[in-house]
Amino acid sequence: MQLTMYLILVFTFTLTLHTAVAQNKEQPPNFVIIFADDMGYGDLGIYGHPTIKTPHLDQMAREGQKWTNFYVGASVCTPSRAALLTGRLPVRSGMCSDKVRVLFPNSLHGLPASEITLAEQLKKAGYATAAIGKWHLGHRPQYLPTNNGFDRYFGIPYSNDMDKVTDKSYLELADALTPKDFNVPLMRDTTIIERPANQYTITKRYTEEAIHFIKKHKDRPFFVYLAHNLPHIPLFASKDFQHTSKRGVYGDVVQEIDDGVGQLLATLKEQGLANNTIVVFTSDNGPWLSFKKYGGSAGLLKAGKGTTWEGGMREPCIFWSLAGIKPSVVIDLGTTMDLFTTFSAMAGVPIPDDRVMDGVDLSGTLLRNEPSPREGIFYYRGPTLYAARLGDYKAHYITEGEYGMFGEKEIHGTPLLYNLNEDPSEQYDVAQDHPEIIEQINAYVKKHQADLVVGADQLADQEKQ
Ligand code: MG
Repeated sequence: MQLTMYLILVFTFTLTLHTAVAQNKEQPPNFVIIFADDMGYGDLGIYGHPTIKTPHLDQMAREGQKWTNFYVGASVCTPSRAALLTGRLPVRSGMCSDKVRVLFPNSLHGLPASEITLAEQLKKAGYATAAIGKWHLGHRPQYLPTNNGFDRYFGIPYSNDMDKVTDKSYLELADALTPKDFNVPLMRDTTIIERPANQYTITKRYTEEAIHFIKKHKDRPFFVYLAHNLPHIPLFASKDFQHTSKRGVYGDVVQEIDDGVGQLLATLKEQGLANNTIVVFTSDNGPWLSFKKYGGSAGLLKAGKGTTWEGGMREPCIFWSLAGIKPSVVIDLGTTMDLFTTFSAMAGVPIPDDRVMDGVDLSGTLLRNEPSPREGIFYYRGPTLYAARLGDYKAHYITEGEYGMFGEKEIHGTPLLYNLNEDPSEQYDVAQDHPEIIEQINAYVKKHQADLVVGADQLADQEKQ
């Protein structure tokens, strides 16, 4: 009898611990998303990089979950960010285009007001919300973070290589470029406070801003979207990190981001928030390989940014919380779009039912190591589906390189087929051996396309020069 009581107590305690993050209705969990820019699958120590030192992210992965099959919604900045914040494929919101790939400083539009961002969603449960860093979903007033559910914004509203005012070649960048060569604005809320932004200190200042916001809002639920502008090219590190990495300036920059992650997690621990805050670290798309040593690495994955090969869309992803997240390496499928669904569930906010959502709830995997409910991945380039993954296998209907690498556009009558678990580098086409799997993936795509309404292109309209 005593033993039974003891077991019940232990079971109840364990259950309480594991579901503390998910089910504490009085105090729903805080969320911090740290989103790097153009960091590849192979750029962190814990993901196998031999010389870039990332002790804080490595520790975060050991204390939390390291995902090895985690994807973004597109292989370039603007659509990938739209996917994360809306929980929907960019083809639905119109935040992708077959004319331009991202928004530019002369773009007229941005994220449609009809889209619901994760910040707007969490506001329904009383969260304090901040966007810090790169936005890239429209820089005109109506499209800024403060009009998309964020109470505060501090950052550069698009890529750090825009507003280029130099004729210097990009490949000279590590030695010759300075922040003055890119007249990008730094904004606080809706006001430009510095131009050109001093990019040497930008990573450091983003981290400080996030820590300040967390301390200020520690008594209520908060959501911080910390989207670093780096390691997107051009690369700049602050004085303390310059020339610290054997990997060169790219390594310096990643090591400074890692240091910021360490500071942020230390703050959560000091402030007593580590048990009730979920931190996610990932990147918006794969490495910019045409910049050679100044771009990142996709590790064993094929190709990089701009493509629908694995290196373009599979990213490092680490989930962390000191209570709740079950430490492990997860090889099941997940995407950035699942964050909307998962965090909404944890915060007790119903998922919008007036639109098609592309996320699934990963809570069971995060909290109890259950299998991920996600069965597949759609790989879009602009509004066109190029490939689809179902379980172990990926079929490429169209392949195309980018930035002068990995070949011209090719439409495949019989799709290329790879078993991504056996062949993560996509080297051995097994289409001839498995026509039945191609049939299954075709049916999966057909079902997806049956209810697909392609959103009006929000990227193509630009100011006349
Ligand atoms: Mg990017």
